[in-house]
Amino acid sequence: MTSTKDALGALRDEVCRANIELWRRGLATFTFGNASAIDRSRGLIVIKPSGVPYADLRPEMLVVTDLDGGVVDGKLRPSSDLLTHVVLYRAFAQIGGVVHTHSHYATVWAQSRREIPCLGTTHADYFHGPVPTTTHLEGAEIRADYEENTGHAIVRRFARLDPTRMPAVLVAGHASFCWGSSVGVAVETASVLEEIARLAYDTMTLNAAAEPIPSELLDKHFFRKHGPAAYYGQPPLEDAPATELRR
Ligand SMILES: [Zn+2]
Repeated sequence: MTSTKDALGALRDEVCRANIELWRRGLATFTFGNASAIDRSRGLIVIKPSGVPYADLRPEMLVVTDLDGGVVDGKLRPSSDLLTHVVLYRAFAQIGGVVHTHSHYATVWAQSRREIPCLGTTHADYFHGPVPTTTHLEGAEIRADYEENTGHAIVRRFARLDPTRMPAVLVAGHASFCWGSSVGVAVETASVLEEIARLAYDTMTLNAAAEPIPSELLDKHFFRKHGPAAYYGQPPLEDAPATELRR
């Protein structure tokens, strides 16, 4: 019988690579930030250990937890933000990976408690509308179960938002959380979020009255890349005609 350790080997490698990628792309410095992924069939999460420098990270150092945040495997303590990840996995059934970074420009918007308006098509290619900001937690929510309550604040903000169309959020006075179908996709989203946060900051520095693009242009760019009518990029191999495959 395959042990949980062996079965999760590929996911451990993926999560380790994703965490190192955050650091390599300059999205996470020191030990800030963390990436995780979920194995939905087993109900297990693989996450970065707390306080370990990215340069030292190895797949066997990652921590495996259940969907209550209980450690199932690992010698090190999990990331202190584990329970925020847990709440997101429980609330957003479609997601396979979560990334948290304090990347500079996204954090500037989070600290300013300003949502990032959709000022151009670079933004619209990835985020269907302004990137939302949470409200501050109440004192009692900070004193007890802070990380879990951060997750609940995000989920409350998404009451009328679709997490597959808006794969990022700015936590007020803190920084961003991003997610995706896999942890690799979540890293890409975190990278693009930083880029569009910087673009929006510079745009509004040059023109403080800059306005969001028309909704028709937003829809055009988002839905040509996402959803059933998407036509950007190349189709998966199985969609290609059989004659094409035989060549
Ligand atoms: Zn943080």
